[in-house]
Amino acid sequence: MTEATVLKPARTAQVGRVATPDAQAALAGTKLFPYWLDNPAAPGAEPELVGDTKADLLIVGGGFTGLWAAVQAKELMPELDVVLIEAHLVAHGASGRAGGIISTSVMHGLPNAVRVFPNDIDQLEQFGQHNLDGFEATLERYGIDADVEWNGEMTVAVDAAHLDPLRADYELHRKHGHNVVLLNREETREQLDSPLFEGALWSRDRSGIVHPAKLAWGLKRAALSLGVRLHEHTPLVTVTDDGSTVYVRTPKGSVRTPRVVLGSGTAKVGVADINRRVMQVRDHVLATEPLTSEQLARIGWKNRQGIYDTRTQLNYFRLTRNNNIIFGGLVSYHFDGDPDPQQDRERETYTRLAQAFYRTFPQLADVRFSHAWGGPIDYCSRGSVFAKRYLGGKAVFVAGYTGFGVAASRFGAFMGLNLLFDRESPERELDIANLSPTYIPPEPFRWIGAKITFHAFDGADAEGGWKRAWINGIKAMGFPM
Ligand SMILES: Cc1cc2nc3c(=O)[nH]c(=O)nc-3n(C[C@H](O)[C@H](O)[C@H](O)COP(=O)(O)OP(=O)(O)OC[C@H]3O[C@@H](n4cnc5c(N)ncnc54)[C@H](O)[C@@H]3O)c2cc1C
Repeated sequence: MTEATVLKPARTAQVGRVATPDAQAALAGTKLFPYWLDNPAAPGAEPELVGDTKADLLIVGGGFTGLWAAVQAKELMPELDVVLIEAHLVAHGASGRAGGIISTSVMHGLPNAVRVFPNDIDQLEQFGQHNLDGFEATLERYGIDADVEWNGEMTVAVDAAHLDPLRADYELHRKHGHNVVLLNREETREQLDSPLFEGALWSRDRSGIVHPAKLAWGLKRAALSLGVRLHEHTPLVTVTDDGSTVYVRTPKGSVRTPRVVLGSGTAKVGVADINRRVMQVRDHVLATEPLTSEQLARIGWKNRQGIYDTRTQLNYFRLTRNNNIIFGGLVSYHFDGDPDPQQDRERETYTRLAQAFYRTFPQLADVRFSHAWGGPIDYCSRGSVFAKRYLGGKAVFVAGYTGFGVAASRFGAFMGLNLLFDRESPERELDIANLSPTYIPPEPFRWIGAKITFHAFDGADAEGGWKRAWINGIKAMGFPM
């Protein structure tokens, strides 16, 4: 891939912020490429589509949504002739760039489910369980080794003021039968040692971590084994509704089909309504070099949970099988959802993230970073996946995970297929399948709003004031933060 390049040693002072010497040095030579995709085990590309073809089902996008749609479509309806087109390579988008923390919920967590669909909680909770049953069974069926570890997810409070909301989350999870424990400061630091941690909520339900690229590559292999015709380096260029069929043009060919799953995330694919409901936010991630056992012992982390902190500009972190720490969380917005913003290649972006890493783990001052990258988050007002029909019902768009799609994408693809093929299924009785997220204001208001919001994120916790008031105002308008 041409994307890979390295950060050079800093030559000038940072603008607006003073970088610590550690962060500067630790990023020299860091490869600007997702750690997950930088792997000799990456499969070769499937051939680009050349010529005109027909299919019973066309899937656009080779991320988790498209891949799960392909596998489940062939399992549910083996007679279907399925074509999947991916603009770049499978897992090129968010799926190959994720932190890889697996959540139990298909709704971006229980508190969000309560916020959005309070009357359907019990069923939504069941969907989460069934989704992970299917997730595990699929990996087993196709022999997909994606480094899955079911050690739970843990939210750590980085301020004593965050303990009350954490306790409220604990009560909510208990009320709904979750296996959760509330840890005090000492207990938290026994799990993972950071001077910032004041307490934690450890969900010991089925949740944990996965190597997201290995998962995507395994699903790709499964789809191919089921007979899916998969074409990489094949972007949808135009889509036309021809009445009874949909006509999709690619650079060197075309597909005529009665049904389309749009698993294209926040990309523009010629259906304007989609980008009124989802917007692309960029998130950024660092991978450390593998920790030695002595370095790992300095922070503990024997139980290897997936971790989120409670900062407004939140950080999340987890270990890889080789004990690299994946440390993510610095969101930004770029006008009109620019899919390749300069900020993803700037030292300043990753310096800030490295500083957050060292504040969290000062014991790891000698740890350096091997990889840095950015990726697209499909943000929507409901904060969780939706499926919506377009082109006279012949296409269904599935996305909106808002940063929590590693496991929920399996459910999203299932819900999308059921809508598209009019298949009976319990979720179709509920609002989750029948309502769509509200519109997000168009440009330039979107850009202005996002800029102010992300500026407010940076100081909201420490400074409060107008920043906190702004964030609360945005939340009150129904947008999850
Ligand atoms: C930095 C980061 C960290 C994250 N961490 C987590 C996490 O820890 N846990 C979690 O649950 N979720 C996480 N997420 C979210 C999760 O990665 C996504 O929700 C999920 O991968 C979405 O999958 P998708 O298939 O819908 O989208 P994508 O993976 O973005 O796939 C869309 C695909 O469509 C292709 N495409 C676009 N336009 C076209 C076109 N015109 N023609 C053909 N193909 C096209 C793209 O190339 C892309 O491959 C994270 C996301 C990011 C960016």
